[in-house]
Amino acid sequence: MLPTSTVPPPTVKVARRGADRLKQGHVWVYRSDVVSADGIAPGSVVGVADERGKFLGTAFYSSASQIAIRMISRDRIDDLDALLRRRIGDAIAYRERIVQNSDACRLVFSEADFLPGLIVDRYNDLLALQVLTQAMDAEPVREVVLSELSQRIQAAAIVERVEPKIRELEQLPARASGVLQREKTSTVFSMNGVKFHYSAAEGQKTGAFLDQRENYAAAAQYAHGEALDVFCYQGSFALHLAQACSKVSGVDSSRPALEVADRNAALNGREIEWIEANAFDLLRDYASAGQQYDTIVLDPPAFAKGKRSLETALRGYKELNLRALKMLRPGGVLVTCSCSYHVSPANFLEVVAEAGRDVHRNLRILENRAQARDHPILLNVPETGYLKCLIVDVI
Ligand code: SAH
Repeated sequence: MLPTSTVPPPTVKVARRGADRLKQGHVWVYRSDVVSADGIAPGSVVGVADERGKFLGTAFYSSASQIAIRMISRDRIDDLDALLRRRIGDAIAYRERIVQNSDACRLVFSEADFLPGLIVDRYNDLLALQVLTQAMDAEPVREVVLSELSQRIQAAAIVERVEPKIRELEQLPARASGVLQREKTSTVFSMNGVKFHYSAAEGQKTGAFLDQRENYAAAAQYAHGEALDVFCYQGSFALHLAQACSKVSGVDSSRPALEVADRNAALNGREIEWIEANAFDLLRDYASAGQQYDTIVLDPPAFAKGKRSLETALRGYKELNLRALKMLRPGGVLVTCSCSYHVSPANFLEVVAEAGRDVHRNLRILENRAQARDHPILLNVPETGYLKCLIVDVI
């Protein structure tokens, strides 16, 4: 039998619309634009061709996702392992160039690093990995990924954080989260000089919201006086604000998140008030009670999960921003975020502008920011960019 690497992969033919999308630099083809994928096994590496048979590149194929094709190269690939290893090396080298003053960052960001379906976050000496697609979940691929990561990073452990819903959507067998290599499951990491507890078995996403790392530091530059961190999770904004503010409160509806927030405050020798509440109710109550702040952070979960919920999402953002603006003293600072991909940067600016008009406040943009650079945005793959973070002076 020939070694697998010399067997040419099967070919998936894509319709004109899919081919055009690829020619424009995108990396996805939707199932509706696939002409033929008969007999192709879930998670295969495939060649991609247009209807006339012209070769367009090599991709991961998913039999379950609406995104049937995720490109991994514009070329033919005869050694997948070498390609994966090179891509991981490139991703790490990029972070070495751009990440400063933090021992935590995203090392691999899926499509944005040309490794569709793989996320690797570093928390000091722990690596947390997420596998999101059939092809990335194939055992030989997992083995190469783990081997390359452990060669390049001296990690005390590599843990996997499973998103059961994603595995279900990809029709992958259920799998438990857990340690893949070595044994350590908790550590302390730091971002911008602030320390945080990390536990592999707890929290949302891979543990923390590393995509806000650069925004924490930016917010701390303008923060002053009394501050309120709304949707504070484990207290990352709050702890950064505490470097500059006289008093800081954090609000979240998740008790486990606030328990970690409290331990994080102790770790940094800070006194912060943590409030377990529904943020919408609390903002309404505080605003009508005439409570005032000098700095407010709004970092809600994604309101728009799809295009259809855009209008509702925009109303949600408007409501939150309105209430926050009402509570800011003149010269106050609003740090307002949206992590919904479906809310465009222009949508978001408009919503915040409207909220300002409604409360008769002038808003001056201090910074118009996005996700940290270790979560790269590919210009031709707009879906890689999702986080918006506006810092405004409220006059
Ligand atoms: N600012 C945080 C990330 C926030 S993620 C950071 O930088 O780390 C969104 C947070 O909103 C989660 O912690 C979640 O528990 C919380 N949340 C969701 N719905 C909420 C609600 N209605 N009221 C208060 N908190 C809520």
